[in-house]
Amino acid sequence: MTTSPTRLCVTLTAETTAELRRKRDEVVGADLVELRLDTVSDPNVAGALAGRKLPVIVTCRPTWEGGHFKGSEDERRQILQDALARGAEYVDIEWKAGFTDLLSSTAGRRVVLSSHDFNGVPSDLNNRAQAMRATGAEVVKLAVKTSRLSDCLPLLDLGAQIGRQGTVLIGMGECGLATRVLARKFGSLWTYAGDQQHVGQVTPADLLDAYRFRAITETTEVYGLVGSPISHSVSPAMHNAAFSATRLDAVYLPFPAADAEDFVTFGRAMGLKGASVTIPFKVSLFDQMDEVYAVARRIGAINTMRAVEGRWLGGNTDAAGFLSPLRDRVDLKGARVAVLGAGGAARAVAVALSSSEASVTIYARNLLKAQEVAMTSSAASGSMPPEPGSWDVLVNTTPVGMYPRVGDTPIDASLLTGRHVYDLIYNPSTTRLMREAAKAGCQAIGGLEMLVVQAHEQFEWWTGMKAPAGVMREAALKRLAEFIRHENHVV
Ligand code: NAP
Repeated sequence: MTTSPTRLCVTLTAETTAELRRKRDEVVGADLVELRLDTVSDPNVAGALAGRKLPVIVTCRPTWEGGHFKGSEDERRQILQDALARGAEYVDIEWKAGFTDLLSSTAGRRVVLSSHDFNGVPSDLNNRAQAMRATGAEVVKLAVKTSRLSDCLPLLDLGAQIGRQGTVLIGMGECGLATRVLARKFGSLWTYAGDQQHVGQVTPADLLDAYRFRAITETTEVYGLVGSPISHSVSPAMHNAAFSATRLDAVYLPFPAADAEDFVTFGRAMGLKGASVTIPFKVSLFDQMDEVYAVARRIGAINTMRAVEGRWLGGNTDAAGFLSPLRDRVDLKGARVAVLGAGGAARAVAVALSSSEASVTIYARNLLKAQEVAMTSSAASGSMPPEPGSWDVLVNTTPVGMYPRVGDTPIDASLLTGRHVYDLIYNPSTTRLMREAAKAGCQAIGGLEMLVVQAHEQFEWWTGMKAPAGVMREAALKRLAEFIRHENHVV
């Protein structure tokens, strides 16, 4: 049985009723508008409703339920009653307010009975949902604070039991993003979008364009990025752009897991098809895989997982991504390669180079760590920094010079004596190390190309299709440019 599409409700706040109305009339692409009368200084129901083009939800949230309304409960009741009387399509009434007379005045019709828990998932969630539904309210909305991805799962279970019968289920906080984007899978009648970032809302533009909300159904395949922190990652932009260009029924979300177990519990319950894996889960999730491919085993870390008939397979596309930009530029045969750093990326680089005929030395501030990485790939090891004249290709795998500390560099400019300098950092796309390398006469290579190629490899592994040419690169560049604009603005 097909179900009707999940609607998109845009939440609006303003300082005055006139501003709220102006914002209301500027909304595009939504099915519903929530008018937060508690945020305006002069709440006026008639003014807020006059001339509306889209159906609205009138909300006047009290401070005791996370809102801004400072007046008395009687004044609030009057506003909500007025909204019902004036024919607002929906009026949001807090379950805990006890305004039963308002509910019975319409026999529950046009009422969104809401409950917000800012401390977590209440232990009586299901009973509460039943009690709220028993009031006869047309729509029951339950919003709970999520601190872990798996906090979304009680909502998923609840939606499976009673969803599509007038329920809206929201996980607040960044761990609850799935409940908003995948609202249809959670059985919600609609989702809320807007600029209320403190509760985890995403903007209507992101929901519609980046996550293709309109195309998401119960059968849409879910992929994502697991890591922490990941709010500035460009991977969601790259993979969603590729899914869109290839018209695949798939979406990619950031999953800021609390720990490896949290991701596994959530991912299995959601039927996740695949994920990119980043810091700090590259090793801890390795141990959670049913099978790990040879390259990832040699590296000792995964950066990709794929689910096949319930089995989780681990792989690593960093090694292939790293080599790709070198292929046309550098003859590795006999080349002396100095690798700075001895973390996860250095391991992938060392394994990738072990199949070339280069002579590789791993340099780290901690010699023991350098030796450990060197052992995985028959490389040599040394203490930072490498001697001038000792290398042809220098690879930076440390995060030194990465945003926000863009003025830092892992090696003094006077020591840049080789032919090629390859910085794995991609934000910024040109690092101080690259600038100084170019000035010293070296060919400088940045990390963006590696990022794009490792993402291509992930896409191809997951979908069996060739990644669309140029799409991921363009999406990554656009996202990085947005990031820089935003940071400059914020600063
Ligand atoms: P990681 O596992 O944390 O390893 C970082 C390494 O850098 C460690 O050896 C660390 O040494 C060393 N390091 C950190 N700060 C240092 C400093 N101030 N001076 C000297 N050494 C320092 O991180 P990773 O996963 O390898 O990632 C490293 C970088 O590579 C990041 O910038 C990441 O964005 C980039 N990367 C890019 C791509 C791409 O596709 N372009 C892919 C993967 C990674 P200690 O162990 O002593 O702390």
